[in-house]
Amino acid sequence: MKMNKEIEKIIRNLGDISKSIKDKNVLVTGGAGFLGSWICDVLVEQQAKVICLDNLSSGLKSNISSMIDKDNFKFIQHDITQPIFFDEQIDMVMHLASRASPFEFEKYPIQILKANTLGIWVALGIAKKHDARFLYTSTSEVYGKAEEIPTSEEYRGNVNPVGLRSCYDEAKRCGESYVVAYRMQHDLDTRIARIFNTYGPRMRAEGVYGRVIPRFIEQALSDKPITIFGDGSQTRSFCYVTDQVEGLLRLAFLEDAEGEVINIGSEEEITILELAKLVKELTNSKSEIVFSELPEDDPPRRKPDITKAKKILNWEPKVELEEGLSKMIKWFKEKESGK
Ligand code: UDP
Repeated sequence: MKMNKEIEKIIRNLGDISKSIKDKNVLVTGGAGFLGSWICDVLVEQQAKVICLDNLSSGLKSNISSMIDKDNFKFIQHDITQPIFFDEQIDMVMHLASRASPFEFEKYPIQILKANTLGIWVALGIAKKHDARFLYTSTSEVYGKAEEIPTSEEYRGNVNPVGLRSCYDEAKRCGESYVVAYRMQHDLDTRIARIFNTYGPRMRAEGVYGRVIPRFIEQALSDKPITIFGDGSQTRSFCYVTDQVEGLLRLAFLEDAEGEVINIGSEEEITILELAKLVKELTNSKSEIVFSELPEDDPPRRKPDITKAKKILNWEPKVELEEGLSKMIKWFKEKESGK
């Protein structure tokens, strides 16, 4: 799977917006992570000057290895919860730094809270000092166990403040509140993306980092049992990474999106049981499908209303689930064989 082709496709799909990226000084926190590194790739290719900040707690150096020697890319290993100052001009801050896997919610709840509270405070402070635009990558998790499906940006959420997922849900809600506060008090140009489940190459499968799609693919390719939590009737709507990154960059670089809060995700809803069967079929796997207990507060349904993204960003996902899964399976196989 050629990464460059995927990056070129995002740039093509961005159309005129891609031109406004050139020569911008962009700070990306969490730039070595799954989504952060894809964003850096597009920015570097479009001749932005990119500063990639990551503490490498869940991000990987290998995600940015193709950029590390480029003149318009600088990597700084730094934890965004600690102050950092820049002499050079910064035009845009994109705050992506945060662990995002439910297994990590149990293991690193404090770090997750800090990245989206202290971390966003530092990131917003940088934006304020440089009068830079600010993009925050929030999440569908701010809606919690949504009672409105598809869920629009108007929905205010149904979150358990003391549950297993609270460190993520509540921290992201607090992060949004910080963004609104900086916008109100300091008149910053801010944008909030609420990201729904996204998948694609560079997403980690192992241990605490594993989300459902990379886990199922890895299990299926090694003929190990495919592990469904609960009875598999819960749903998610999975967006392929190139679509997600295009949506995020549209929201960040579009002139007319100041102050907007926009869902970015796929409308293609599928049950986790159907997903397991599809992955099994696409990998020709002999894996059996096994069931275990559903984690606390696991949302039973998740599907975005993307009317706003369609209207304001002129964006909707293009890659269907089967196609995206096939690409990801190919990437996994190449990674395993060391290509
Ligand atoms: N899930 C599962 N088996 C796994 C991993 C996850 O059945 O090995 C389920 C999980 O309980 C949830 C859905 O798949 O209902 C999506 O999980 P993921 O960790 O990707 O993220 P979430 O959408 O819950 O934040």
